[in-house]
Amino acid sequence: MLPGPTLLYACPKCGQKIANESLMSGNTFGARYFSDGKRIAPMLPEFPDLIRCQSCGFFFFLHEQEPVDELYRFDDQFDFDLSEIDQAQAPGLDDLVLALREEVARKKENEIAIRMDIWRAFNDRSRNGNSMFLNENDKVLYHRNCEVLIALIEPKEDHFKVTLAELNRNLGLFDTCLKLINSLEDQRWNNLKKQFTMACEQGETKVFELK
Ligand SMILES: [Zn+2]
Repeated sequence: MLPGPTLLYACPKCGQKIANESLMSGNTFGARYFSDGKRIAPMLPEFPDLIRCQSCGFFFFLHEQEPVDELYRFDDQFDFDLSEIDQAQAPGLDDLVLALREEVARKKENEIAIRMDIWRAFNDRSRNGNSMFLNENDKVLYHRNCEVLIALIEPKEDHFKVTLAELNRNLGLFDTCLKLINSLEDQRWNNLKKQFTMACEQGETKVFELK
């Protein structure tokens, strides 16, 4: 794994500087894959994309911004005063829900990205062995979010069909899940199809690790 430069961004609203790490190269050695498409790869860390500015609260995606500067480790430039700069942090569940009501979510692709993060943030609780819902509101939010994602995501490519199948399974809609899974024709999905089918037969709605 080879780290890339630290990328410096400026909040488009207030100008506050935000630093995000980058990666020159990595690999998927030791990676774990889950039914909701999440990959946990120690040699391929992911860096935040959606940011809530710690200074003014504005939400924006870093991939929609140009870095204002790049800092290289072992470089003289690293005299830079990093104390004035916020480190990019991935928003937690509460902030993600808040972001849905903001300007950043008006673009369909952004709304999908935020809702996918909400979905996986709930699933993370299950991945970590905790209960997914702390209260009834959580449950309503999770289900509603899955339903909206199903309405927003078009099954243009196979991997979108897998996402839709998983969302339907999470809602307990096993017949729809199986229909979507069985519409995948490419052989490379055979192992995944088997595991999704077994989960549906067992009436399992929670995220699971793919073998
Ligand atoms: Zn700001």
